[in-house]
Amino acid sequence: MAKKSKWIDNKKFREFVNQKRKEKNEKPDPVGDGYYLKWRNPQMGTQTKAKVYKIRLLPDKDGEFYKKYFYHFFQTNEKSYYIKCNKTADNLDNYCPWCNANQILWKGNENDKKKAYRYKRNERFVCNVFIVDDPRDVDADNEFKVNGKLRLYEFPATIESKIINELTDDEQGYGEKIFDPENGHDLFIKIKAKAPDKNGKIWPDYADTAFSKVPTAILEEKEEIEKTMDSVYDLSKYLKSLDIDWKTHEKLIKQELLWDDIKENFMRNVEDYKESEESEKEESEETASEETKTEETETEETETEETETEETETEETETEDNDDEPSDEDLLNELKKINQE
Ligand SMILES: [Zn+2]
Repeated sequence: MAKKSKWIDNKKFREFVNQKRKEKNEKPDPVGDGYYLKWRNPQMGTQTKAKVYKIRLLPDKDGEFYKKYFYHFFQTNEKSYYIKCNKTADNLDNYCPWCNANQILWKGNENDKKKAYRYKRNERFVCNVFIVDDPRDVDADNEFKVNGKLRLYEFPATIESKIINELTDDEQGYGEKIFDPENGHDLFIKIKAKAPDKNGKIWPDYADTAFSKVPTAILEEKEEIEKTMDSVYDLSKYLKSLDIDWKTHEKLIKQELLWDDIKENFMRNVEDYKESEESEKEESEETASEETKTEETETEETETEETETEETETEETETEDNDDEPSDEDLLNELKKINQE
């Protein structure tokens, strides 16, 4: 046993270590304990060589396969904001202050139009996936390795179209088997880089993405499969966890100097809403930036890893109309707490 140092208060030290040990044990298990674990967005390879990721799509316990949702993404003062849009695939009539601002700006002058583009609505999909092979595991520390684990995958429309093809092609498609853990088909996400666009930006190319031809089980033991299927995330709850309250919307809208444009609509559409008092006085500029810090963490908690900046530039896929939008994935939380109780 090491000799005791005269510089260290032994009793205090033991207490300290015990406390730390306790804190460590108290950390909630990230799976199935109020936390959602998201899969880090897969990265692209080069123009000639794809990076390949293998995953299995899995349904949640309500039998939901994957869900679509909308979001607004923008950056202000080097901070990124990823805001779930209140409009849902089922109810586009819901009031969303960001869509509202976007609409109004769109009717304005050139500058306004540019601004509108900044707040435009984007779509995304989310699905439970079992990670069969993520090549980044090779270099990842043990705690960040994901092979053989369950994650939530947020994917763009280009991936969805691959899924739809498989589901709707009655002759060749694998149908429900793309969601079957026991006798199903992996999704091989193959990502190359496109040639730089006119602004020099390089976008990922998902064209080679396909489902495996040979059906397999995700795990050898039936019990293990049961266990995995038992811990899938509830997609509806997950989406709900992304909601932010009206006060936060108000603060951010003010921060972006959009409040005057939409205030009337906002008050009319949000029942019994009272504008925050502090911001009433100072109205514009500095107010909000100070106050919203807490909310920003929503997008900042992401585990920081070497590639983040790169990803921001590149990982967002192109949508059909070829509109380039900044990426959001690496800005999203790896861990997301359910905040709706
Ligand atoms: Zn919206």
